[in-house]
Amino acid sequence: MGTEFLNIKEVDEAKKIIKDLFNELYPPKSDIVSIEDSYNHVIFKDIISSMDLPPFNRSLMDGFAVKAEDTFGANDEHPKILKCIDSIEAGSYSEKTIEKGECIEISTGAPIPDGADAVAMVEFTERGSAIDEENDIYILKSVAPNQDLALKGSDITKEKTLLKEKTVIGPDKIGVLAAQGIKEVEVYKKPRIAVISTGNELVLENEKNKNGNIEYGKIYDVNSYAITSGAISNGAIAENKGIVKDNYQKLKKQIKNSLEDFDIVICSGGTSAGVGDVLRHVLDEIGKVIMHGISVKPGKPTLVGKVNEKLVIGLPGNPVSALIIFYVFIVPNIRRLSGKGSENIEKTKAILAKRIHSPKGRIHYNLVQLKDGLAYPIVKDSGAITSLAHADGYIKISKTIELVDEGKEVEITLFR
Ligand code: AMP
Ligand code: MG
Repeated sequence: MGTEFLNIKEVDEAKKIIKDLFNELYPPKSDIVSIEDSYNHVIFKDIISSMDLPPFNRSLMDGFAVKAEDTFGANDEHPKILKCIDSIEAGSYSEKTIEKGECIEISTGAPIPDGADAVAMVEFTERGSAIDEENDIYILKSVAPNQDLALKGSDITKEKTLLKEKTVIGPDKIGVLAAQGIKEVEVYKKPRIAVISTGNELVLENEKNKNGNIEYGKIYDVNSYAITSGAISNGAIAENKGIVKDNYQKLKKQIKNSLEDFDIVICSGGTSAGVGDVLRHVLDEIGKVIMHGISVKPGKPTLVGKVNEKLVIGLPGNPVSALIIFYVFIVPNIRRLSGKGSENIEKTKAILAKRIHSPKGRIHYNLVQLKDGLAYPIVKDSGAITSLAHADGYIKISKTIELVDEGKEVEITLFR
């Protein structure tokens, strides 16, 4: 079939085309999820508190609720003696009001009774030892008004911003929601992505022969696993659809099926313009090829197509190329859609440990390994799997640069 690349795009142009397509086809949407399911989702709209916290004046210590002024001047030698008139455990309350000279025994977390304005810690009190004195509480240290209590609403009051939009929900934020009795939360709807690997040479783990080897000429599928997990870690719901042979009908069928349940289909392999590269032709038939070929190393044979108002992306087959193209061109859009913010892909800086030669005229992304604050360039070919074993991320080298010298500071985008 052999068709030439139509119109190779520069990196920035390609980024813009892809970003515009995402914006056109996928306006951000929200979803309601239970707080149990909200982990790693992103808050869609500011969440407003619905109640004061704490909801009542609450003791911060085990001890005795007192009128602070009743304790003034108390010390070990001259304790103040207060009459204990009740006891309150967390979860219950007392209907009694403390009068001058009285106190109520109180547990941490229990509501402060009327008439009290402070708590004397149990450590600084003693109970009368005689039987008829067991309600005499000896206060051994003076307490100040409001000491060891949390006033109603001192944490947050009703109708304040509890959590801001775009907050990523982790265990701490789930705790905040639970504290307000919130059971469901409005979050960015995660884009749903189907991931397909294509190639006659690809096999699955269970396709070993009786000697435990795979057939000569075959290799294990790498990309569907790597891309699926990269999509999930950047905010998508992604499903690994496995391997499809370089077969026009089979690939067409799998893409069509996947488009029914998913927002985006990401394929890898078979994206060049050679014999056996069928993705291009499938997209020509069932939709439209928007872009074929980017002036970048690695990853020139990248395809972007539109089918029924959904995107079908074709990443190059080489695992290093596939992952780099995915991170450079697709991940920022997935992050934006899922509310995570396109710029938040984690980056770090380091000093280049060895010089890198780079092809002139093409933007080059080079894998690097980080060790002791240095970035070691990985120079293997983009099919070498040990490149990925060692890589922490990649650096971008602009197209006018042919050499990045040892000792130069570089910015590394990390694979997360
Ligand atoms: P292609 O883009 O189909 O021409 O493939 C380029 C190279 O990447 C070939 O050596 C393929 O065997 C290899 N390749 C393609 N897809 C995968 C995959 N899913 N996992 C591992 N290697 C792959
Ligand atoms: Mg192939």
